[in-house]
Amino acid sequence: MSWDESRLTEEQRLMKRSCRSFIDEVVTPFIRANWQREWLMDPDARLPRTILEEADALGIRTLGVPEEFGGLQLDPEREVETFALIAEEIARGDSGLADKLVQNWKVAVLLRTFAPRHLQERWFPRLVADPGFLLAHCLTEPRGASDRWLPYNVPEAAMHTRAVRMGDGWVINGRKQFISNGYDASLYVVYANTDPKVGMLQGTSSFLVPRDTPGLTVTRCNETVGCRFMNNGEIVFENCIVPEDHLLVEGDALGKAGVYFRPGKIIQAAKNLGVGVAAFERTADYVQSYVQGGRVLIKHQAVALRLADMASRIAAVRALLRDAAQAVDANAPEAETLCNMAKVFASEEILKVCQHAMELHGGNGAMLDFGIEKLFRDAAIFLHMDATTDISRLKIVKSMFPATAGAYAGPEA
Ligand SMILES: Cc1cc2nc3c(=O)[nH]c(=O)nc-3n(C[C@H](O)[C@H](O)[C@H](O)COP(=O)(O)OP(=O)(O)OC[C@H]3O[C@@H](n4cnc5c(N)ncnc54)[C@H](O)[C@@H]3O)c2cc1C
Repeated sequence: MSWDESRLTEEQRLMKRSCRSFIDEVVTPFIRANWQREWLMDPDARLPRTILEEADALGIRTLGVPEEFGGLQLDPEREVETFALIAEEIARGDSGLADKLVQNWKVAVLLRTFAPRHLQERWFPRLVADPGFLLAHCLTEPRGASDRWLPYNVPEAAMHTRAVRMGDGWVINGRKQFISNGYDASLYVVYANTDPKVGMLQGTSSFLVPRDTPGLTVTRCNETVGCRFMNNGEIVFENCIVPEDHLLVEGDALGKAGVYFRPGKIIQAAKNLGVGVAAFERTADYVQSYVQGGRVLIKHQAVALRLADMASRIAAVRALLRDAAQAVDANAPEAETLCNMAKVFASEEILKVCQHAMELHGGNGAMLDFGIEKLFRDAAIFLHMDATTDISRLKIVKSMFPATAGAYAGPEA
């Protein structure tokens, strides 16, 4: 249930293998040693720094960072596909850990594209030097993220977080919620309204905000159903002043955010796939060793049918994911459609894979110290990351029929 290695480049094969060893030798034993650890209510106590240090030593914490600043430069023609391969391997061990690391890759890609040179010189070396340094991307607010995804481009749907130019800087006020790495990050990309008179495609700007900026407060770590090591958080900005040069994109920040979101959707699908592969591997072992009705489970035809269904769904997700990743790498016209398809398809198919895993494990499937319920919980969370499945479907149709589809929001007639 893995990629056909003969189709991978030497770089991809090496990255995939070293990642798999890290998962099998470090991450999986850590998770199995204490299934309750992700449920510790002190977020600081959940994931030991040593895990991030080991990930860092492999280079998988700083993917996307330009080589001149100490990052690991992947083949640019296959960067997104390689992100997918690695994200799948990490999520096969733990998808919350995968979330932590991939946020760094995605935000690093955004920064290398939009941050002025002096900010890259300042922040990339700090990110590279500290294995605990994490990045976060703050778009969602208490009022409806879906309006931004569609987008619903009218002034009344604008972000509530505002940034106002004052002297040599910007003053930010507002609240961001549901942010992956939000609780732990050292550096945030923050979207804010900078022109309330226009729609959000014209009036949204993005800023780079260091965690220690006065006025920035991390107000909570959200307790999520799955992917719990990501430490999803909420951040409040109260008269938070950032210098003028911390502006990344002025006005059309949402229009330019595809540089983050297209690889992001591929990575979401790949993490999801990793969870499905783990569920399949665990279940395949179980049904070949556990006996009911006088024979191992796999010899009961109803069990075999479920296993075939799991394998088929995984293969289908992988095939679509590979096509979509290659389209994003090639900047192909169908990239937007395919990356949304891959994200939605993976989130629904892998949830079904995990449901089969729960069923085939019987009561053990529901027990914390068996680890199957964790995969089900982790899979469930992907439905709502990077847009809901419904909004993603609307985006698929909108990208296929731009002339006729798209007006999915507005005041009631
Ligand atoms: C685990 C996790 C991690 C996340 N990480 C991040 C992050 O790092 N950064 C970040 O900025 N955000 C993050 N998010 C937020 C995520 O992107 C949003 O939760 C998601 O886009 C849905 O937005 P919402 O929660 O505001 O739901 P809403 O927009 O309030 O939607 C509620 C319901 O209404 C439906 N709906 C809304 N508008 C329409 C419409 N016009 N037509 C049809 N149906 C509609 C939606 O499909 C949904 O079913 C994360 C969320 C989760 C769960």
